Amino acid sequence: MASSVKDAILRGRKTVESVVEEGRKKVEDVVEGGLNTVETVVEVGLNTVDAVVGKGRQTVESAVSLGRKTVEHTLLNRRGTMKAAVLHGREDIRIEQVPVPEAAVGELIVRVGAALTCGTDLKVFRRGYHARMIVPPALFGHELAGTVVEVGEGVTEFVSGDRVVALNSAPCGQCYFCQHGQENLCDDLLFNNGAYAEFIRIPARIVAKNTLHVLDHVPLEHAALTEPLACAVHGFEDSHPHPGDMVAVIGGGPLGLMILHVAALAGCEVIAIVKHDGQVEAARQLGATHVVQTGSIRKAIADTRALTPKNRGVDIAIEAVGVPEAWQEAVELVRKGGTVNFFGGCAQGTHVTLDTNRIHYNDITLRATFHHTPAICRKALDLISGGRFQAQAFITGHAHLYELNRVFEKLMNRDSEIKTAIVP
Ligand SMILES: [Zn+2]
Ligand SMILES: [Zn+2]
Repeated sequence: MASSVKDAILRGRKTVESVVEEGRKKVEDVVEGGLNTVETVVEVGLNTVDAVVGKGRQTVESAVSLGRKTVEHTLLNRRGTMKAAVLHGREDIRIEQVPVPEAAVGELIVRVGAALTCGTDLKVFRRGYHARMIVPPALFGHELAGTVVEVGEGVTEFVSGDRVVALNSAPCGQCYFCQHGQENLCDDLLFNNGAYAEFIRIPARIVAKNTLHVLDHVPLEHAALTEPLACAVHGFEDSHPHPGDMVAVIGGGPLGLMILHVAALAGCEVIAIVKHDGQVEAARQLGATHVVQTGSIRKAIADTRALTPKNRGVDIAIEAVGVPEAWQEAVELVRKGGTVNFFGGCAQGTHVTLDTNRIHYNDITLRATFHHTPAICRKALDLISGGRFQAQAFITGHAHLYELNRVFEKLMNRDSEIKTAIVP
């Protein structure tokens, strides 16, 4: 019996041990399984995170790549077309998508930094054409400075990125007038229009003769003044001035103001004859010693002569309005031996009546100056770069290309505006 009890106990212990053992194994299995499960879960989780990150990265990369492609595509598209002002006729400018020009041999493509409004453009806007410069439908605008973006074959003077001012014309260099130092009268003057646009093509001849580098410190919109300033400098120098001369300038428009400023900088005593209040201030700021403000020609003549010693008249009178009455007025302003410059161009077919006795017996020199020469253009840009010339005073407004119609309408009605810089 005792042995059977012992056996039973032994058996029971074994059973308990085996149960415990089994239980331990089960627990271990479970723990093992759990660990495995946790690891699996963690593993799967990590994989999932990796996958998500990976996918995210791919998404971002493809988005960036897509973005880059879109940008490139857009640039390519811009290469295809650009916004530009197209003149269709009288007071009809439309901003259109037109092909971006490409540089042929000797040419440049310039991204327009600033294009300035000009009295000539205003005339063209009113009339719808310009006999020598523009026949609609045509790209429009001619005073600009910008950055070279494409260089045609054979161009050595310029590289992409150069800041330049490209003049609106260039002489042929071959004709009688070019050979005689009167390139402004060239028989084959080549004009370029299209400054009111994102890009402009500069023809080979203008690249070779009338495209100039702009110094870093000179804003592009100041450099764009080179063309009108060249006309002003030309008109002034053609009048053979001497320092201390009394110079009367008729007209307070952009060119009248430029001529008087150039004359003042050259040491002349300037009398500005203007109509509008805004022009009075501008004339004073730009160096006029006296300002005669009147709409009456009789009064302008009397008041101007009264400012000269013994009423004798000025040494030089420069007409910068372009109407026959002002041409006649100019002749009445000068002293014996004086010089008149008919600088303002009148409408085609205009005639004037002049007192021949006065001209002959007073030994009056009559001159008329048109346009500019390459040498004068360089002089004008030097004047702008030099710092004494108040370029900023001539730019009285800024506008975007799509506001161009409104800008011209405003210029027709308001007389205090000098030039507006159009930024494409
Ligand atoms: Zn102009
Ligand atoms: Zn020529």
